[in-house]
Amino acid sequence: MVAISLEKLLVLQDRDRKRLSFEQQLQAVPREIATVEGRIATEKAAIEAAKAEWHALESKKKQLEMEIGSAEDKIGKYKTQQSQVRKNDEYQALTHEIETAQAGIGNLEEQEIGIMLSIDEAKKRFAAAEAELKQNIKGHEAKIHTLREREGQLRVDVKAAQDSVAESREQVPVPQLKIYDRIAIKPGHPVCVPVTGARCGGCHLKVSANVELEARKLEQVTTCDQCGRIVYWTP
Ligand SMILES: [Zn+2]
Repeated sequence: MVAISLEKLLVLQDRDRKRLSFEQQLQAVPREIATVEGRIATEKAAIEAAKAEWHALESKKKQLEMEIGSAEDKIGKYKTQQSQVRKNDEYQALTHEIETAQAGIGNLEEQEIGIMLSIDEAKKRFAAAEAELKQNIKGHEAKIHTLREREGQLRVDVKAAQDSVAESREQVPVPQLKIYDRIAIKPGHPVCVPVTGARCGGCHLKVSANVELEARKLEQVTTCDQCGRIVYWTP
């Protein structure tokens, strides 16, 4: 009976819709995982940036310590020279050099204090950023874990939905299946639609009087003369 086939076509359409939905959800999972992985990479980059800022200040401090050390060496040499010179003007010249070097050291030490304060700040910022970002990363990783679990479940769902579609297809007579498949090529496209008030429920255009009559009789598969969908009459 054709009327029964319509019912089976509607069951097939419903199962096909479920199958498609599961397949689309499954296909979306890798993209969702990639998005979350991107967020993790951003958090890690932010931790690295905070660390680099701190390390740059540490390098600057080392550089200053080296400059102070070499200025102290210079002063040592001048003092040795001073103990060896005989002339007063040479002695005075060296005293002047020593004073200049000492003033330089004073300046460098001031800079060093400033750097040390900046290091303390940078360390605090780094520790705070690291704690917060690591917490965020934990959240992202949990999300990925959930997505992977979901992916596993969706594989099961897709398989079950595909099996159920295959089972349903066996129930539908081949000629009707051919019509169904021709329209179902467009995913998400409803294949079997009601005709209400002489209008096709798919394309919303008016169907011919003959199509409406055939759709009412339900003796054979009737298709919309505008869009080709399988139509059935509803009051
Ligand atoms: Zn139509």
